[in-house]
Amino acid sequence: MHIPFVDLKAQYQSIQHDVDKAIASVITETAFIGGKYVQQFEQAFARLHGAKHCISCANGTDALYIIMKMLGIGYGDEVITVANSWISSSETISQTGATPVFIDCEANYYSINENLIQAKITAKTKAILPVHLHGQMCQMAAITALATKHHLYVIEDCAQSHLSEYGGQLAGTFGIAAAFSFYPGKNLGAYGDAGCVLTNDDALAEKCRMYARHGALVKHQHQIEGINSRMDGLQAAILLAKLPYLHQWTAQRINMAAYYSKVLSGIKQIVLPIVRANTKHTFHLYVIRCVQREALAAFLKEMGIETAIHYPTPLPLLPAYQYLHYQATDIPVSSTYQYQILSLPIYPELTTAQIDFVADCIKKFYTS
Ligand SMILES: *Cc1c(COP(=O)(O)O)cnc(C)c1O
Repeated sequence: MHIPFVDLKAQYQSIQHDVDKAIASVITETAFIGGKYVQQFEQAFARLHGAKHCISCANGTDALYIIMKMLGIGYGDEVITVANSWISSSETISQTGATPVFIDCEANYYSINENLIQAKITAKTKAILPVHLHGQMCQMAAITALATKHHLYVIEDCAQSHLSEYGGQLAGTFGIAAAFSFYPGKNLGAYGDAGCVLTNDDALAEKCRMYARHGALVKHQHQIEGINSRMDGLQAAILLAKLPYLHQWTAQRINMAAYYSKVLSGIKQIVLPIVRANTKHTFHLYVIRCVQREALAAFLKEMGIETAIHYPTPLPLLPAYQYLHYQATDIPVSSTYQYQILSLPIYPELTTAQIDFVADCIKKFYTS
């Protein structure tokens, strides 16, 4: 049996008719940049969230950067984020000229430890950037309360949390704005790079749209210098075709995760993911912690099972952030977990037979 880490082909085959039709329409109508599919996707994605504005852009990284830049975050400012994430969460802070301030993650949920935030707030702090990693929501009640108290913006990184919920409220609707990624492997993925900003703030929405379109809302009328960050018409049409399936795919991911946790329970060498109470964890990733990780991953590979590590090095310990002088002891949880975490294959098209096989192989590894 071969079980890839993600299987984008299986999904394509299940909706081939819709996707092929969408692609053909874009080409026949030559709606490559801007146009009705981009507009329709923006409207549909905003409506899905009950949000006023969705501003499509080239990728999730740009979405984060555009939000912060248009909030006026820049040199001399600090933005608080989490140590264990993809580098987009912090490199976009630096791109504005501000300094990322890294906080360790919670031991159980892998998300920013809200109890450690207060101590890192200074006169320079402008925003808190929580990342709903793996699809697990951060402790938004505590984070928004802290932000209100200290007059800070909350900017959600929702790249891994499409349709995740906290207290019945969707990810991406808690702060001043949120960034989504539609990278192919994300829970809602395009066939290339794509992303968007979600916000209810009219003025911020207009600024973000303008900035991402060379600083002009009307062609040639550049109010400011901007950047070129647009979603392709092709990507928009593909995302529009996929959007109706997102609820179903999300439910399937949640079922797959529950099944994993059932068949993996009782193996004392591994720690299973837990879901925060009163939230919906959408399982972009199913991450376990385990002993002898390298050997287990190698054994699974031999058995045809692909795994991955999200992420092998906490952000502040990367060479890119050496200049900030963080030590592993500053982030004890993340720096311990980096050697224990292992992401198992999870996607809507995965079968229980495949999960049984993964579980059997893990059991075999620890009993042999
Ligand atoms: C994927 C990802 C991003 C960036 O999205 P891109 O579309 O690849 O630029 C940002 N943050 C997190 C946590 C991600 O996983």
